[in-house]
Amino acid sequence: MLTPKNSGWIEVICGPMFSGKTEELIRRLVRAQYAKQNVAIFKPKTDNRYSDDYIVSHNKRKIKSIILESSEDIYDYKDQADVFGIDEAQFFDNNLIEVSNKLARLGKRVVIAGLDKDYLSKPFGPVSALLSHAEFITKLNAICVTCGDRAFFTKRISKENNQVIIGEKDKYQARCRNCFDKK
Ligand code: ADP
Ligand code: ZN
Repeated sequence: MLTPKNSGWIEVICGPMFSGKTEELIRRLVRAQYAKQNVAIFKPKTDNRYSDDYIVSHNKRKIKSIILESSEDIYDYKDQADVFGIDEAQFFDNNLIEVSNKLARLGKRVVIAGLDKDYLSKPFGPVSALLSHAEFITKLNAICVTCGDRAFFTKRISKENNQVIIGEKDKYQARCRNCFDKK
């Protein structure tokens, strides 16, 4: 007989921009708070699009968060929370993979939201590796702004060429596979 253990696990919520990753992350973390669990939420320093102390979804829901430069610093909070939420994971360094596994091994629930692909449809930061470490994966879709189909791609409509260019609808659009290839 297998004996159930109280082990931790990793959940990843991925998809293109505007697919509701932050909304879904906030939904899961708020439910954990209702269950009286201690929740800590982190985001990388590079992203300060709306607010410094909150993670904010495109529909303006928000939850208090801690901004860190290095993913290793998340581990310092190991005694302060049962549930670890991480937003914009694509902007964290690759140590996030090891940190997430270490927390899960301690029995923590780690909920990670991030872009799986960049504007060229290439793997983005630690997220694709995290998908193979995760017990649970949710891939969300947005609505293609060109044709209304399901969008799994993020098209950059501005001219910059760096992988990381912070922007919103001024620079990015959710597109389906067909429309991603169009101008
Ligand atoms: P993500 O974290 O994936 O970028 P958010 O949770 O911040 O997404 O925002 C999702 C919200 O964005 C949707 O609920 C909707 O209100 C809005 N939205 C804007 N553009 C689109 C689009 N093209 N398709 C779907 N939702 C969109
Ligand atoms: Zn389309």
